[in-house]
Amino acid sequence: MAQQEDVFKKLVSHCKEYGFVFPSSEIYDGLAAVYDYGQMGVELKNNLKKYWWDSMVLLHENVVGIDSAIFMHPTIWKASGHVDAFNDPLIDNKDSKKRYRADVLIEDQLAKYDDKINKEVEKAAKRFGEQFDETQFRATNPRVVENQAKRDALHTRFAQALNDSNLDELRQIILDEGIACPISGTRNWTDVRQFNLMFSTEMGSTSDGALKVYLRPETAQGIFVNYLNVQKTGRMKIPFGIAQIGKAFRNEIVARQFIFRMREFEQMEMQFFVRPGSELDWFAKWKEIRLKWHQALGLGQEKYRYHDHDKLAHYANAATDIEFLMPFGFKEVEGIHSRTDFDLSSHEQFSGKSIKYFDPELGESYTPYVIETSIGVDRMFLSVLAGSYREETLDSGETRVVLMLPPTLAPIKLAVLPLVKKDGLPEKARAILDDLKFEMKCQYDEKDSIGKRYRRQDAIGTPWCVTIDHQTLEDDTVTLRNRDTMEQERVAIGALRSFVQERVSMTALLKRI
Ligand code: ATP
Repeated sequence: MAQQEDVFKKLVSHCKEYGFVFPSSEIYDGLAAVYDYGQMGVELKNNLKKYWWDSMVLLHENVVGIDSAIFMHPTIWKASGHVDAFNDPLIDNKDSKKRYRADVLIEDQLAKYDDKINKEVEKAAKRFGEQFDETQFRATNPRVVENQAKRDALHTRFAQALNDSNLDELRQIILDEGIACPISGTRNWTDVRQFNLMFSTEMGSTSDGALKVYLRPETAQGIFVNYLNVQKTGRMKIPFGIAQIGKAFRNEIVARQFIFRMREFEQMEMQFFVRPGSELDWFAKWKEIRLKWHQALGLGQEKYRYHDHDKLAHYANAATDIEFLMPFGFKEVEGIHSRTDFDLSSHEQFSGKSIKYFDPELGESYTPYVIETSIGVDRMFLSVLAGSYREETLDSGETRVVLMLPPTLAPIKLAVLPLVKKDGLPEKARAILDDLKFEMKCQYDEKDSIGKRYRRQDAIGTPWCVTIDHQTLEDDTVTLRNRDTMEQERVAIGALRSFVQERVSMTALLKRI
């Protein structure tokens, strides 16, 4: 674990050093849990957003996009339940004065039991080799059985407390489990209190009665309140979906994990409107489609898993997360929720306007049910970086840091490097770049030795480098170097475009889903 934390620290400083992510307002000592994307980060982020957008809007005839405003009528957040129920249970340690989410402290405790059990299993698997029967071992080993029983009891108690919104019970669980503050090491806890996560501000001048408005904590409501506009003007027939990418804001209590939990972040959400009664089938379908989307990136199938929710949000009748193995454990990257007709019915009630759908096939009107897929761009960004970051020791004994990014997502697709800064090589290199720049993001670099330049490109995840040397002037061939294998081959300049394009195009990636 310590080693993993180390990797995480390195990743954070790598992000800063190479222009992926900077702390916001850094020259003023930063602003907690707010980050800016740099010159490399913005390219990677845009590529990720395009991958998501195209997978929704291009690959599904019945999914269209919108871009709704961040400010919305404040009653929307009454109707959605966010004013009354968008709370996190917080608890303070009286000695360190640090604030925590009570549910997260308990989840971490559950993960500790899992770790203990898994370690026993791993040890035994090594000891017994091929004869190892894991099921039997889990059922009979006294230490495993004891820890599993403790874990299950805690899990049941926790789920019950969450479902009842029983704050005293959450605190009691923390005390009974002996959970200590990681900073002070003490168990001196305050009561658990609810904390609303929405930011608010005022619209209009105070003299004419300013209106209290919220910064949206999710993009979904912009879709719900536009659903009938889109359905009518786009002549959409159920089932159909509306996709949106945009900023969301949450006043998170604990924000210590870099861009994993931010106060200003970006979401990619799709609401899929279906006939009542068919929602669980669609839920299952979208679960599968979304996992495939993640897996197509090739970061390793074993790094993803589903996690079904114990506590369903006030609007849901089924919910699952897609989790990714971050350097700090499996964590949610995307949520898939069956939101029933909660939101649409509620908006109908609060607005007094009918937003029912007339189903021509059934000859009747109803309020559609909704399946939502909701993914954070920033968390996705972090998962891609964490899954791509490698430190390698080469045969020469040298080390290199390389981002093995999926080529389609890489900020720079091709680096164009003249071997030396003279003899017409820079001009030749520029001519190659000028020819390719319309189709792919290229970078020209002539400074330092070729080895150093390769390292710089490895560090930002550039999948290919071409080197222009004296032979290029004679026969129009260049050396093409592969980031992952570091192998080099001689190719004709004329063949470069299709070679790189085939491997970095969005189409190539989308076809893998
Ligand atoms: P968590 O339990 O981690 O707070 P959540 O279940 O509240 O997350 P959702 O409301 O389901 O999250 O939001 C959908 C997605 O938006 C999440 O899967 C995540 O990728 C992203 N997201 C939510 N909150 C944040 C945040 N504070 N910073 C960055 N991304 C976030």
